[in-house]
Amino acid sequence: MSVPHRIGVIGLGIMGRAMAMNLHKAGFQVSVYNRTRKNTTEFADLGCRVASTPRDLAKSSDLIITMVSDMAAMDAVLEGPEGALSAFLGGNALINMSTLSPEYTAALAKKCFIAGVEFLDCPVSGSKPLARDAQLVILAGGKKETVEKFTPVLKAMGRTIIYAGQAPAGTALKLCLNLIVAQLNTALAEAAALAAAQGLDPALVFGALEESPALNCGYFALKKDNILKKDFSPAFPLKHMLKDARLMLAAAARDGLELPVTAAVEKLLAKSYNTGYADKDLSVVLRTLTEK
Ligand code: NAP
Repeated sequence: MSVPHRIGVIGLGIMGRAMAMNLHKAGFQVSVYNRTRKNTTEFADLGCRVASTPRDLAKSSDLIITMVSDMAAMDAVLEGPEGALSAFLGGNALINMSTLSPEYTAALAKKCFIAGVEFLDCPVSGSKPLARDAQLVILAGGKKETVEKFTPVLKAMGRTIIYAGQAPAGTALKLCLNLIVAQLNTALAEAAALAAAQGLDPALVFGALEESPALNCGYFALKKDNILKKDFSPAFPLKHMLKDARLMLAAAARDGLELPVTAAVEKLLAKSYNTGYADKDLSVVLRTLTEK
């Protein structure tokens, strides 16, 4: 099976920009589309084709990779006369790497199947620095042979591929992992707030975590500077974790499952969002906890 060389990337936000850059560095012929045109300039400077619409991108690509915010953004880039799907004939392929709902993903997989388009459901675990360093963990849903076919493309963006099953299994696994991230993020912010409330330097919390073989965790290291320096420049925007928390709760509710801790985290994220922190890093919940 040959690997497609003409790859069109839709969505050059925090993650998509880094992922497209790594595809380019790996030698693939990368074209890009982004709603806000100015974010494409650095790719044009590298000699990448910049498409004017998703349809224009799809016409000159064997494979489209989407890395956009949410379901509304997916609809905007896939559907309608200028959407990527309008240019897709049998033989093309779509890999979605955005975090969407399992239902949306299942419907998209079906739509692609009917249109003769190969589809993979490949959301990612890992944030801005891991995307930059091509160290993402790719959670793959779809036909196993399709995952194998596109492994060289996926490996240009990630360190490993975890095969979860047929779509939307990649998305289902992603929601489980993000449940942990949402809770770890809240736990760190609460522990730092509690330390300060008791007159302790929050750095002591991180120092003790690092020394503990049971509690030392890469995520804590990733968020240490955000929490200690109160620097909430975004690696993972809070609005996306709020979306994900709601997707988790909806998925659980469909099976009559309650997730009480995740429900509490969703409330804190929503409060932070409504305070105006949607675009800040999700660690900004520390500010929401401590603002009087
Ligand atoms: P981001 O920086 O907010 O970028 C979002 C991208 O979606 C931008 O390219 C944006 O275009 C595009 N977009 C949004 N609404 C659109 C619309 N209506 N029409 C067309 N394009 C639209 O987000 P990100 O952090 O890269 O995350 C992307 C996805 O990956 C999300 O689903 C997120 O949950 C998931 N994810 C993020 C991380 C992370 O740590 N950041 C980690 C794992 C997974 P403009 O530039 O024009 O706004």
